[in-house]
Amino acid sequence: MTEADPIEPDAGETCPHCGADMPDDADRCPRCGRSADQPVTLTPPKPLWVKALAWAILLLAVAGVVLWAIKMIRG
Ligand SMILES: [Zn+2]
Repeated sequence: MTEADPIEPDAGETCPHCGADMPDDADRCPRCGRSADQPVTLTPPKPLWVKALAWAILLLAVAGVVLWAIKMIRG
């Protein structure tokens, strides 16, 4: 290595998750705390509004089924 090498993506020096610089002896990223050995998750963590929306849809679905059942029972 006589010249300054560019940062190699497979050198294990950068976090595969957030791209932060990682020491060679570090088993976890100092920025995001994930292990460098973990596979990169394809889906990012869902924000809170996604969970709220999912719950709202679920409740609407349950309410719809209940209303449908009441309607069927009453004829
Ligand atoms: Zn990271």
